[in-house]
Amino acid sequence: MFLEPYMPQEPKCGWLEVICGSMFSGKTEELIRRLKRATIANQKVIIFKPVVDTRYGENAIVSHDSNSIKAIGVSKSIEILELADSYEVIGIDEAQFFDLELAEVSQKLALDGKRVIIAGLDMDYLGKPFGPIPSLLAVSEYITKVHAICPHCGTLATHSYRKEKDGDLVLLGEKDLYEPRCRGCYSKGEQLQLKKAKELEKEV
Ligand code: ZN
Repeated sequence: MFLEPYMPQEPKCGWLEVICGSMFSGKTEELIRRLKRATIANQKVIIFKPVVDTRYGENAIVSHDSNSIKAIGVSKSIEILELADSYEVIGIDEAQFFDLELAEVSQKLALDGKRVIIAGLDMDYLGKPFGPIPSLLAVSEYITKVHAICPHCGTLATHSYRKEKDGDLVLLGEKDLYEPRCRGCYSKGEQLQLKKAKELEKEV
């Protein structure tokens, strides 16, 4: 479990924490846990999410087990700089959907003395590094990679497997569309889908 580092009052310097992993790995749960602890410590906390994620309404992030916390929807990462000005702890959820400037924005916030906690998918459904997350991993002080459980073999799941492929990278959904898989089961699924697609081509 991640334990907060001791935060000296002076010199005031902040830091970045990234919580990453596949879908259903508990990223948002972990983000909410840390933010709630900061709130108990009487720190001024604010949470942002990209406006693309409207699954649960404009002003809330809700984790998969319905533990929720209020969040402000923003369309560009640069907006966070101004909005976060008077806060000490900044939470950012679904960070993979933000623009690539998020890494720079987060570093400015940290330099300004803020603790920035970022949660996001490290890979898209194709298994490729997702949006600004790779850059954030490079520049952050603390990284926590959380895992889901692969329902096919019971080992740790690192990949987000999309059951139906339609080419749209940002396709929001729940367990009807995606499932967490380990590397091996993810690869088997990909090969099976490729085989099916080829068979369909032959029929046409
Ligand atoms: Zn598996």
